[in-house]
Amino acid sequence: NRRIVLASRPEGRPTRENFRIEDVSVPEPGEGELLLKVQYLSLDPYMRGRMSTAKSYARPLDLGEVIVGGTVARVVRSRHPGYAEGDIVLSYSGWQTYSLSKGEGLRKLDPAAAPVSTALGVLGMPGFTAYSGLFTIGRPQPGETVVVAAASGPVGATVGQLARIKGARAVGIAGGPEKCAYVRDELGFDAVVDHRAPDFAERLKEACPKGVDVYFENVGGAVWDAVFPLLNPFARVPVCGLIAWYNSTGPFEGPNRLPLVMRDVLSKSLTLRGFIQTEFVSQLPDFYRDMSAWVREGRVRYREDIVNGLDHAPEAFVGLLEGRNFGKLVVKVDET
Ligand code: NDP
Repeated sequence: NRRIVLASRPEGRPTRENFRIEDVSVPEPGEGELLLKVQYLSLDPYMRGRMSTAKSYARPLDLGEVIVGGTVARVVRSRHPGYAEGDIVLSYSGWQTYSLSKGEGLRKLDPAAAPVSTALGVLGMPGFTAYSGLFTIGRPQPGETVVVAAASGPVGATVGQLARIKGARAVGIAGGPEKCAYVRDELGFDAVVDHRAPDFAERLKEACPKGVDVYFENVGGAVWDAVFPLLNPFARVPVCGLIAWYNSTGPFEGPNRLPLVMRDVLSKSLTLRGFIQTEFVSQLPDFYRDMSAWVREGRVRYREDIVNGLDHAPEAFVGLLEGRNFGKLVVKVDET
């Protein structure tokens, strides 16, 4: 059983030295337990938060602890009445090849219904984040303009396509020409702007001639600076992620813009509302029903970036925070 643990806490950008690979024996399932063999491990931006001790909505990892993560796993031994060998489940096994489970928090997957890795992406937590945050907080109306960054990733890609299903205009922001072409041509966004372009703010303004009604905030940083002045009166801002700042510890440089932001929040009657997707668990049945249908019908498309081998998880994760992934980042752990 190979596993990757937190060796030290990153200061700023994580490095290879923050992770340690260990080999330990494969655990034996006791009565009522299952042995799971991980097939796919999801790499997600929130893991950066768990590596640090900064106050957050979830407990930080301890040093030496296996890094957490959503996984798709196969039941290889079962001493649990609800599961049989060969069942494929969504689990939370983390960065390791085997794990024990008592059956709590698992969800059986049907490999005939969709590729099982999608349970970590469009049909899983990131897809649900887009669905719940956009529909509950953003509430896009026909003809409105919805802006989202990290638009080729699992959350952003889904947000834009859902906005279009609701009749809104989707404007994506992505890093580099290849991702931008994908967002426009494959995902069908109405416009896309490259945040690395020197005239990014100007181009974003051109792409939003009627201003912005919903800004689904995934990144913060310079993207926030460019979008904020474009917000229309009564605009809604679901604050989902701030990846541009995940490696920053502060104090933050530059002038204090909070008074200007607050003045606009007041005078334009803006709604800024943060959320963690777990808040909306009661919407999960609706999500599974709607999103499975939309994916099946080709109305919501997705892209996966699959890395082979658990040992490559650390470098892939560091790359995720810098935009080196292209699509939902997943590690194929079981290469047999
Ligand atoms: P992605 O797969 O889209 O990966 C992150 C992307 O962020 C990178 O590929 C990169 O894309 C972009 N990015 C990184 N740094 C910057 C920057 N400085 N400026 C602009 N873009 C940047 O990730 P996810 O779809 O999984 O997650 C998107 C966001 O949603 C994250 O902030 C994440 O933390 C958040 N999230 C929040 C949840 C919640 O419950 N609130 C749940 C799940 C995710 P590019 O190259 O295009 O710039």
